[in-house]
Amino acid sequence: MAFSGIPHLPFQEFTVSSLEALLSILKKARIKDAEIEVSTSEDSQHTTCSKPMIHVLVMTAKGEGAGEHKDLAALYQYCPGCGSAVRVL
Ligand SMILES: [Zn+2]
Repeated sequence: MAFSGIPHLPFQEFTVSSLEALLSILKKARIKDAEIEVSTSEDSQHTTCSKPMIHVLVMTAKGEGAGEHKDLAALYQYCPGCGSAVRVL
Protein backbone atom coordinates (compact mmCIF):
# COMPACT_ATOMS: atom_id res chain seq x y z
CA MET A 1 0.00 0.00 0.00
CA ALA A 2 1.29 3.42 -0.94
CA PHE A 3 -0.23 5.13 2.07
CA SER A 4 -0.23 3.40 5.39
CA GLY A 5 -2.73 4.18 8.07
CA ILE A 6 -5.87 4.53 5.99
CA PRO A 7 -8.33 2.27 7.76
CA HIS A 8 -10.17 0.94 4.71
CA LEU A 9 -9.28 -0.80 1.49
CA PRO A 10 -10.14 0.73 -1.88
CA PHE A 11 -13.75 -0.02 -2.83
CA GLN A 12 -14.53 -1.20 0.66
CA GLU A 13 -18.09 -0.36 1.69
CA PHE A 14 -19.14 0.08 5.27
CA THR A 15 -21.90 1.63 7.31
CA VAL A 16 -21.31 4.59 9.54
CA SER A 17 -23.90 6.46 11.57
CA SER A 18 -22.99 9.99 10.52
CA LEU A 19 -20.47 12.08 8.62
CA GLU A 20 -19.00 13.12 11.95
CA ALA A 21 -18.45 9.46 12.84
CA LEU A 22 -16.64 8.86 9.55
CA LEU A 23 -14.42 11.90 10.08
CA SER A 24 -13.72 10.72 13.60
CA ILE A 25 -12.59 7.30 12.31
CA LEU A 26 -10.21 8.96 9.86
CA LYS A 27 -8.80 11.35 12.45
CA LYS A 28 -8.24 8.54 14.93
CA ALA A 29 -6.35 6.58 12.26
CA ARG A 30 -3.61 9.23 12.49
CA ILE A 31 -2.70 9.01 8.82
CA LYS A 32 0.71 10.59 8.42
CA ASP A 33 0.60 14.29 7.41
CA ALA A 34 -3.03 13.95 6.41
CA GLU A 35 -5.55 16.69 6.00
CA ILE A 36 -9.19 15.80 5.65
CA GLU A 37 -11.44 17.82 3.38
CA VAL A 38 -15.17 17.51 2.94
CA SER A 39 -17.06 18.55 -0.15
CA THR A 40 -20.52 17.98 -1.45
CA SER A 41 -21.17 17.28 -5.07
CA GLU A 42 -24.49 17.37 -6.84
CA ASP A 43 -22.87 15.39 -9.63
CA SER A 44 -22.56 12.14 -7.78
CA GLN A 45 -25.67 10.53 -6.44
CA HIS A 46 -26.00 7.35 -4.46
CA THR A 47 -27.27 4.65 -6.77
CA THR A 48 -29.43 3.18 -4.02
CA CYS A 49 -31.39 6.30 -3.03
CA SER A 50 -30.27 8.96 -5.56
CA LYS A 51 -29.37 11.44 -2.82
CA PRO A 52 -26.22 13.55 -3.28
CA MET A 53 -23.10 11.95 -1.88
CA ILE A 54 -20.66 13.75 0.39
CA HIS A 55 -17.03 13.44 -0.65
CA VAL A 56 -14.36 13.06 2.00
CA LEU A 57 -10.84 13.61 0.71
CA VAL A 58 -7.74 12.54 2.59
CA MET A 59 -4.88 14.74 1.40
CA THR A 60 -1.28 14.18 2.41
CA ALA A 61 1.36 16.88 2.21
CA LYS A 62 4.65 15.99 0.59
CA GLY A 63 7.85 17.97 0.72
CA GLU A 64 8.51 21.20 2.55
CA GLY A 65 8.23 24.93 1.89
CA ALA A 66 7.88 26.00 -1.72
CA GLY A 67 8.21 22.43 -2.98
CA GLU A 68 5.26 21.28 -0.96
CA HIS A 69 2.40 19.69 -2.76
CA LYS A 70 -0.54 17.61 -1.73
CA ASP A 71 -1.48 14.16 -2.87
CA LEU A 72 -4.90 12.64 -2.71
CA ALA A 73 -4.33 9.60 -0.53
CA ALA A 74 -7.89 8.39 -0.32
CA LEU A 75 -11.36 9.42 -1.37
CA TYR A 76 -14.54 8.38 0.35
CA GLN A 77 -18.14 8.90 -0.62
CA TYR A 78 -20.71 9.03 2.11
CA CYS A 79 -24.49 8.89 1.75
CA PRO A 80 -26.20 10.61 4.66
CA GLY A 81 -29.52 9.11 3.63
CA CYS A 82 -28.39 5.48 3.93
CA GLY A 83 -25.52 5.89 6.39
CA SER A 84 -23.27 4.03 3.99
CA ALA A 85 -19.77 4.95 2.99
CA VAL A 86 -17.41 3.62 0.37
CA ARG A 87 -13.76 4.24 -0.23
CA VAL A 88 -13.55 4.92 -3.96
CA LEU A 89 -9.82 5.68 -4.22
ZN1 LIG B 1 -28.13 6.47 -0.14
